[in-house]
Amino acid sequence: MNNPTLPALPLVDEPLPQPKRFGAVELERLTAMVQQTSMFYWKGPQTTALVDEFRRHHPLKYCLPCSSGTAALHVAVSSLRLQPGDEVIVPPISDMGTYIGVLYQQGVPVFADVDPRTYTLDPADVRRLITAKTRAIMAVHLAGNPCDMAALTAIAREHKLALIEDCAQSWGACWQGRPVGTIGDFGCYSLNDFKHIGCGDGGIVGSNNDRYGPGLNNWADKDYGRTEGGRDPETLAPNYRISEPQAAVAAAQMTKLPDIVARRNRAGELLTQRLAGTPGVLLPVVRPGDTHSYWFYMLRLELTRFAQPRAEIAAALTAAGVACSVLLVRKAAYRWPVFQNHNIFGGTWPARDAGLTTMDYRTVNCPTTEAIIDDCVKLPINEAMTDAYIEKVARAIRTVLKRLEK
Ligand SMILES: *Cc1c(COP(=O)(O)O)cnc(C)c1O
Repeated sequence: MNNPTLPALPLVDEPLPQPKRFGAVELERLTAMVQQTSMFYWKGPQTTALVDEFRRHHPLKYCLPCSSGTAALHVAVSSLRLQPGDEVIVPPISDMGTYIGVLYQQGVPVFADVDPRTYTLDPADVRRLITAKTRAIMAVHLAGNPCDMAALTAIAREHKLALIEDCAQSWGACWQGRPVGTIGDFGCYSLNDFKHIGCGDGGIVGSNNDRYGPGLNNWADKDYGRTEGGRDPETLAPNYRISEPQAAVAAAQMTKLPDIVARRNRAGELLTQRLAGTPGVLLPVVRPGDTHSYWFYMLRLELTRFAQPRAEIAAALTAAGVACSVLLVRKAAYRWPVFQNHNIFGGTWPARDAGLTTMDYRTVNCPTTEAIIDDCVKLPINEAMTDAYIEKVARAIRTVLKRLEK
């Protein structure tokens, strides 16, 4: 109560701004949709509109809307036709959806460490982990910050690996002026409710690669080969179809993307500007020429400069009215029980039990990832935040941290 280290009043004296996400544009499309005689995705007007809107921002030759970001990633991995035990290099700070497709295709996620300031794959560690079994690299553009695609593309070319871009958190982000997802062999996007744009649940997988592109649809639609009108599955593929109601909302949301991204980018960049030079704070780094689309903002604390542990610093920030969290990235993915217990299918892991991999997730340790998880603070960013709000947040963070410095 009378803790002299805490400011008396919240320094951010307004609630977290909440954007109005859905409205007239979505309603118009949904109204048109219910006049249709079918809600099926194949050649559906809403799904077609979604692809058209998506393509305005993403120059991808082949595009397949599907049921989730996880589905999009699974379709990409399926296209590679992995042999059991084949390896895919992945970062350990991500959503389970990044790993699901690899595991279902009997592949082995191999965890590479991340860069301490961008939080995305460290190309040097990726290179170190390449073996004769490596087939692909999964580049997760975490929080909206593009991966080092120059380095990852060079590694992929040199070792003949596929490059899958997980763009679930990076709608509208650009690497050297090019939209993420259009640089590697696949771009995979999520339209779940929490992403920049969403339709409840949905996803898109795109490719410019003539080897993989034509088959995308089959991998998400029971291998039914709708283009040939056939129903003669040659291989195992799930039903990951989108539906017209989802596509209607997603197509409407897509028209709002440039504005949402511009606003989020402005908010994130302003926060970085205003926090620059704050003692004890390591700010996220965006490479020159790249555009971060700030799904969230994450900074790191130099904890040796403070007397209190991170939880107390975060509590002081919260008391000052700063929306923040230290829990959203709780653990490196390899520490999740599914990996620690190698419980991939009913308590077993067929690829390992058959001797096709010696991977033991209990021995995996990515030191930079562990350090980030221990000292990061996540701050929400959204398109409703004004410059004035961000200025208040920055001032509050500087004030609180100054009081808590040793
Ligand atoms: C959200 C997310 C996914 C999964 O997307 P869903 O639509 O929830 O299946 C995959 N990767 C990353 C990095 C994500 O943030």
